[in-house]
Formats: sequence, structure tokens, C-alpha cells
Amino acid sequence: MATARIYNVHTHIFNFKCVPSGFLTNYLPRPLVKLLSPLLRWYPSAWVLSRLMGLVPVQMVKKYRSFLAVGIRNTPQLVFEDMAGSYTEENVGFVILPMNFDYMGGGAAPANYATQLQLVADVKRAYPNKCFPFLGIDPRMGTSIEILNFVKSYFEPVFKGFHGIKLYPALGFYPTDDRLEQVYAYAEEMGIPILTHCTRGGAFYAGKKVPPELFQYRTFNPTPVTIARHTQAFYSQLTTLPPKNACNAFLDPVNYYDILNRFPKLKLCFAHFGGDEEILKFLAQPTADQGTLNGGYNNTASWYYIIKDLMAIFPNVYTDISYTLYDTTTNHGIVAAIKNDLQTPIGSRILFGTDFFMTLQEKDEKSLYTDFRTALDNGPLWENLAYSNPKTFLSSSYYAVP
Ligand SMILES: [Zn+2]
Repeated sequence: MATARIYNVHTHIFNFKCVPSGFLTNYLPRPLVKLLSPLLRWYPSAWVLSRLMGLVPVQMVKKYRSFLAVGIRNTPQLVFEDMAGSYTEENVGFVILPMNFDYMGGGAAPANYATQLQLVADVKRAYPNKCFPFLGIDPRMGTSIEILNFVKSYFEPVFKGFHGIKLYPALGFYPTDDRLEQVYAYAEEMGIPILTHCTRGGAFYAGKKVPPELFQYRTFNPTPVTIARHTQAFYSQLTTLPPKNACNAFLDPVNYYDILNRFPKLKLCFAHFGGDEEILKFLAQPTADQGTLNGGYNNTASWYYIIKDLMAIFPNVYTDISYTLYDTTTNHGIVAAIKNDLQTPIGSRILFGTDFFMTLQEKDEKSLYTDFRTALDNGPLWENLAYSNPKTFLSSSYYAVP
């Protein structure tokens, strides 16, 4: 039997040398990070540490152990090979999502963002048909023309094998920032896919406090929708909240209306379908009034609901099920909800992704995708999710996915 081709549109292969110690404070207490971060960056000591953690019979420690075991690998290529090795029955193209950690207020990483991109380019050279990297961008990288030129240099005059753009607003910016407007115009024109982190979980600004000026809403296209949204109670409390919660302002899917209103054909994927907790929140009260885009969503509206609204309005808005797919517990209803969504008009824009290696905190990669594939009966819905839908998402003027 021929091995089926599939695409996993959401994976990470940066190792701990690519992250500032501030990134680790998103997951572990600060004093512990001070102690651990030098150990984690030298393979022999990191290996011993991860072995020792295996001996501690505490679920929380176990949870981080496999995550650490991958993060301590010497190069992103070894992380990539770890991941690819989990797929024995399918021929997989992996979208690799580098992240620019240089502006997250977490200090300097041993390997900065430019180095991380070179390391990812090495993996692309080694595995040209398996590795589909995106470019992570952040408005703080430069002026709008500098950022546009940076992106363009990967597509013109020759295509350099980077297939799309990644945003991670929780690191401290609004996606509506005027410095990104020209990139959106270019991406819309050329059909270049953009993928943005959209769940309340994950990494966030790593300083003890987010500088208040970052919360000033910067947008190149203020619309009544976002103006009203930013008068809601949550937005007036931002400077008093811890960064973990306050950074949700940067992730709010409603912000993207400003972008989509100006660039309605933009190919934009909201990662994680808003997150498992937002889906569960919706499923707990499926008939509750969530509000509407034009009338204003309620303060408590589920991001899952909002993303589906945006998908219904804009023809090239996508979502991926990465991380969220780990919860295959039947009575939680997440799989049933996604299965149902796959059979609606937005179903052709839902994408398979896992969020390797963040998900190692929950499940190993093989169980992650085989459990979900089984839940979809390994039939046409799986085929759409893992092949047909990603094929359309990833194809651009520069590259047609076979
Ligand atoms: Zn991710």
C-alpha cells in the first residue's frame, strides 16, 4: 500500500539554545530557571537532569520530563528527526514554526533569532520534501519597509524554501501593528499563508511586567468592531494583570477584524482553534448568547466561537487543531465538535497540526496523531484535515503543493 502524504501544519523544532531563559520562566518558577537554565543548555548536564526527573514520582515533573528531553537536543535538526521518527505509516510534510524570542523581554538566548533561522534552513536543506519552514516575524524587528524586505528576501528573486509567515503576538505586540501592514498586503497578493498563535495557553511576554506602552492598541485600520472591543472591562485592567493573563489582549481573535477588513482575501490560520478550554467553555453552554461581530461579542465569548464566525465571513481564514487535538476523551466532546465542524462549510479550512514538541507535556507524538486519526475513523474527514485542506493552505504563487 502506498504511504499516504499528509501535512502537519504546526510544529516547533527550536532547542533550548534558541530560547532566552525568560521563555523557561513561562513554564517554571523564576528561581528554578536561574538554577536550571545553564544546566539545560549543556547536553551532558541536561541529560543527567532529565534522567533524575524520571525518578521523581510526581505527575507535574513527569509532565515536563519528555518536553525537556527533546528541548535539550544539541540542534534543531535532531529535534526534527525525533519528531519525524514518530511517523512510521505516513509520508509527512512538517510546517516548522520558528519563533523570534529576541523581543519577549526574557534576555538573550545563546542562539539569537538570526541563528535559529540558519539552523532551520540547514534542516530544510537536509530534508527538502519533509521540512516546510515558515518565517517568524515581530513588528519590533524594524521599520515596516525593513520587515517587508526581510520577508520578501525569502521569496524573491529566488524562493528560499520558507513557505509562510508565523506570528506569536503574546510575546508582546498587536498583530494589527502598522509595521506589519505591508507584509499583509504582500502576503494577500501572493497567497502566502500566515499562521498565528491563538489560545490563552503557551508562551508570553517574559518580563516581570509588560511595559504599559505595549498595551496601547496599535492598528493600521481602526474599525468600529475593535474600537468597541477595546472599551470592554478586560482592556482597562491590562496593566494590573500578570503578563500571563494580560497578554491575552494581544491574542484576542477580534483584533484580526481590522486586518481582514482591509485584506479580506488574506490566508490566515488561527492556531489551536482557540484552545481546548475555549471549546469546552462553548460546549458547556452551547446555546448561551456570545454576542456578534458587529454588535460586539460578550466579554466571556468563546474564542472558538469567534474564530468560527471569522471563518464564515472571510473565505481564506483557517484554523488548526494543534495542541487542542490531544483531548480525545469522548465525554469532553472536543473530537465530536471538530468532527462536526469538518462537515460544515468551514470544514475545508480546518487543518491538522500537533504543536510538537510543546504537546509532549500531554502525549507522545505518535499517540497524538494516531488517536485523533482513529477518532476520525481514518476516513475522508482525516484525509481532508491532513492532506486536502493543508494543500490549499500551503500553496502560494511561489510554491504549489503536489
Ligand atoms: Zn505552537
